[in-house]
Amino acid sequence: MAGKLIIGNWKMNTRAQSAQSLLDALLEQPACDQPWVGVAAPAVYLAALGARLQGRAIRLAAQDVSAFASDGAYTGEVSAAMLQDIGCAYVLVGHSERRQYFAESNPQLLAKMNNAMAAGLVPVLCVGETLEQREQGSYLAVIHQQLSILADIAAGEYLIAYEPVWAIGTGKVATLEQIAEIHSAIKTWCLQNAKPSASIRVLYGGSVKAENAESILMTDNVDGALVGGASLDAGSFRMICQAAG
Ligand code: PGA
Repeated sequence: MAGKLIIGNWKMNTRAQSAQSLLDALLEQPACDQPWVGVAAPAVYLAALGARLQGRAIRLAAQDVSAFASDGAYTGEVSAAMLQDIGCAYVLVGHSERRQYFAESNPQLLAKMNNAMAAGLVPVLCVGETLEQREQGSYLAVIHQQLSILADIAAGEYLIAYEPVWAIGTGKVATLEQIAEIHSAIKTWCLQNAKPSASIRVLYGGSVKAENAESILMTDNVDGALVGGASLDAGSFRMICQAAG
């Protein structure tokens, strides 16, 4: 399944030692040490992991980036230029957990997207509806509203991840029909409204596991997967990468 991208999102997990061990376990697997595989590690461990990845194929990803563009008095923030400096290739932007717990809004996310692209990172804009929004039938409107910043970004390369909130960490996977419907709707919206990216690629995220990865990756308009829980287990992540390889 050439051309599929797999990004593991470790979220707020691991310690210095276990992060290194997990990365080492992935590097031992030819299916994982590939340029279409990425790992989004906690910010504090990125520099050490980036040093370990020198000369290897796996790409490093950050889970968040500052909305502030340049260096300055912004206590606690990590800039896009810093992430680029230590070897990150990707950064997640607007993950539903950040939207929920940190009230990230479209103007902030627009700034994050622009900062990332200006620094040479490829941002992954995460979108997705809650269960309530799906049940009310407003899910497409919600996703269009989240995508709307793509009409205003400076042109550059970015990725989109469709992650229904109700499928994240719950074991509930969207059906292949639901995934195909939303991925197609996202691409149609982008073609009509978004600033062009090199290509429009949409990853699916939400309870992707070794057992369901292949069928999800084979679904129309699915260009890869954003993997949370299963990315913390080297064996499961390897099987997901194999399904993409
Ligand atoms: P999950 O998380 O695979 O544990 O559902 C996905 C994500 O939040 O990116």
